[in-house]
Amino acid sequence: MIKPGVPAPNLAPLMGTQTVREQGVVSYREIRARSLLNRCDSPRMPFTWTVNPYRGCAMGCRYCYAAYTHEFLGIDVPEQFHSLVYVKTGADEETARRLPAVIRKGELIALGTATDPYQPAEGEARVTRRFLEMVAGHRDARLGIVTKGALILRDLDVLQTIHRRSSLWVRVSLVSPHADLVRRLDPWAPPPAVRIEVLKRLHEAGIDAGLGLAPVLPAITDDEPSLDRLLGEVAGAGVRRMFMNVLFLRSPTKEKYLRWLAQEFPRYLEAYERAYAGRVYLRGPYRERLGEMVRRLKRKHGFIDEERGERALALPEQLGLWP
Ligand code: SF4
Repeated sequence: MIKPGVPAPNLAPLMGTQTVREQGVVSYREIRARSLLNRCDSPRMPFTWTVNPYRGCAMGCRYCYAAYTHEFLGIDVPEQFHSLVYVKTGADEETARRLPAVIRKGELIALGTATDPYQPAEGEARVTRRFLEMVAGHRDARLGIVTKGALILRDLDVLQTIHRRSSLWVRVSLVSPHADLVRRLDPWAPPPAVRIEVLKRLHEAGIDAGLGLAPVLPAITDDEPSLDRLLGEVAGAGVRRMFMNVLFLRSPTKEKYLRWLAQEFPRYLEAYERAYAGRVYLRGPYRERLGEMVRRLKRKHGFIDEERGERALALPEQLGLWP
């Protein structure tokens, strides 16, 4: 049970109270973690373990579904998910101890389900890098990464080692080819051209790289000419894999997103309120029309129709919007 404004009892003693670094509008603090590997017991999820090196994410995406995770820290202003980021510390030893058993059982590890593992903090903290180095020391691991961060290219060496020895895929999230719009939606994430270049470099390095078209924002990023251009640019980078999902809205992301929408796209506010009244996810004709359009565009641009990542990630809710 989350008490508004009160950290969960198991987290309170682990949370650093001092800001260890400030960068622009973002304050960083430390949080001690026993292990980076968190078991995910939901049978609906395609992975068994999640790894989130940070709590909070400075990329600032307006639609970020993970804002609720700050409520466990007693932070009930959802915008603070982006301005108060906790860096996990002290987890290396226990993570390294647990990892061999996870790999032995063939369990899928998802890196970056509730934070971006390559957000700016990673440049210095290197929590993601250390985890990847651990994985690289093994064979036959199963690892999936979702990110928007160009910093992933720093780790190409270790990613290539994992690719050679294990199963690895990387999905780079991008919802629109339009730089102006993306700046409004994902204010501190790299612009579209950079993310497409990241896809290209990953692909050229032999990594199974793909586009994470998630979340599609009704009326804002769902027009066919834009998606056509986006898939065309991704295909031009040599990449032919992708997954797609539609905006998932639950509290506190819903309130946060609708506040932003009221300022930036007030003409859509009423339609969103109606469409998402009493539901967190759009189904029915909208979802079907969008699915058909994306299938058509995938065929047009030569995307692979069936892939494990897409089937795994196209789950209806929750982490189906990963992230
Ligand atoms: S959607 Fe992903 S990249 Fe954006 S703020 Fe949330 S966790 Fe970070």
